[in-house]
Amino acid sequence: MSSAPRLLLVEDDVHLSGLLQRLLDQEGYAVTVARDGQQGLHRALVDEWDVLVVDRGLPGIEGVDLVARLRARGVAAPVLLLTARDSVADRVEGLDAGAQDYLVKPFDVEELLARLRALLRPRAAEPDELPVRRGRLLVTQCRVVDADAGEVILSRREADLLAVLARRPTRVFTRDELLDLVFEDAETTGAVDTYVYYLRRKLGRAVVATVHGVGYRLGAP
Ligand code: CA
Repeated sequence: MSSAPRLLLVEDDVHLSGLLQRLLDQEGYAVTVARDGQQGLHRALVDEWDVLVVDRGLPGIEGVDLVARLRARGVAAPVLLLTARDSVADRVEGLDAGAQDYLVKPFDVEELLARLRALLRPRAAEPDELPVRRGRLLVTQCRVVDADAGEVILSRREADLLAVLARRPTRVFTRDELLDLVFEDAETTGAVDTYVYYLRRKLGRAVVATVHGVGYRLGAP
């Protein structure tokens, strides 16, 4: 990277924040640590950041609340939430508040670094998160976090197909259109049907709706 990405770490655990600061520093990040929610809010608002890593359990302002306040004030930098709890409801709550990603403690540092790299990748004009049924699709990460199905990992192809449908949730796509948009290298619309089948197997039948005689659209919420 040309210049060090500016990373704000909001973490009250002194041992963990020290460890992460050293690690991230070695990896080329310019790290600032805030020790509670108030301090985190202040630093996040007064300076420019490329990415924020926010612990959920913070004194002052709790992590999810902090993220929601930052989003409400127009802070757009991507946020990775650290959480000690691992339930679908917790993840959905964090993502709904405006975090892009979350990591459950204890985590592997390699995974943290990979998630940060993903968050720092230049963003396409298309939104990276799309509502899908009772959850959302994280396009870059090929993941769906869903109230019914939990966390589901998709293949790149599955994620691309679902993203095309989810970007225009009321539009019906013909199989030929989907073939062109997602499967440039495939010859027949059979590929579209196969991947619709894969998506339904992973996410439930209702994730993609069949419009008989026309094609497919995203399933209604
Ligand atoms: Ca904590």
